[in-house]
Amino acid sequence: MNKIVIKIIVLLIITSLLLGCYQKIDKTTEKSVINPDEEKKDMNGFIKKETEHFIFNYKIDDKKAVDDLAKILEENYERIINDIKPTIELSTIKVFVYPSIDEFHKAVYKPDASDGFVGYAISATEFAIVSPNNPGTVHNYEYMLKTAVHEFTHIVVGSLRMPPRWLNESIALYEAKQFIDPSNLKFMMKGEHPNFANNNFVSMDSRVYAIGYTIIEFMVEKWSMEKVRKLIKEKGNLEDNMIKILNVTPREFEKQWFNFVYDKYLKN
Ligand SMILES: [Zn+2]
Repeated sequence: MNKIVIKIIVLLIITSLLLGCYQKIDKTTEKSVINPDEEKKDMNGFIKKETEHFIFNYKIDDKKAVDDLAKILEENYERIINDIKPTIELSTIKVFVYPSIDEFHKAVYKPDASDGFVGYAISATEFAIVSPNNPGTVHNYEYMLKTAVHEFTHIVVGSLRMPPRWLNESIALYEAKQFIDPSNLKFMMKGEHPNFANNNFVSMDSRVYAIGYTIIEFMVEKWSMEKVRKLIKEKGNLEDNMIKILNVTPREFEKQWFNFVYDKYLKN
């Protein structure tokens, strides 16, 4: 009887050891199958990637695109800081990368926006963009990488003050190298450029996205980045500031800019 009891006990011990082993093996296999990134998902399904100056929030399918975004932003960081020279030290910037235009538009509360709208500075330390993998009908992968640099520039400029829209967009387009050859623009070829001296251009003319790069290019070549920076920083009326800092009226500025563009891009 004792021998049988001992045998049963030994069998039980062996079985439990075996079960334990199986459980252990199961757990190990399970762990190695889980993608380490998936474990860090937040409640909205976003994964985080942190670089020196940015924290990216993105969906798993955009991992490679986020690597490219991180690369272009970090590569351009010092240059832009040096051009704009913010007076306060910037905190880490959060970047939200949305997998589609629809999801991006919903997230920034502009559900009816057009496909051209793909980036948005949400706050002083955050911006949102559409994933370069899914840029929609207007833009492409490369353009979306530049859009990230554009939105970052808005954040750097915004840390100083909010300049008039044309100046704010122009500096962002310039820093992001979003150059469009004016000879490809019908309105420029016809000489029907936006008018700086009436409020059309100062307020809300989408043509600024086509010509903004050349506005800063002109200012840097005629004056300097330092003067651009001064004009951005200076409080008060822009027209008065142009006279004070650049020694030109908006009307003169407009003429000189168009001549610059004509000589450089349209003449031939
Ligand atoms: Zn912009």
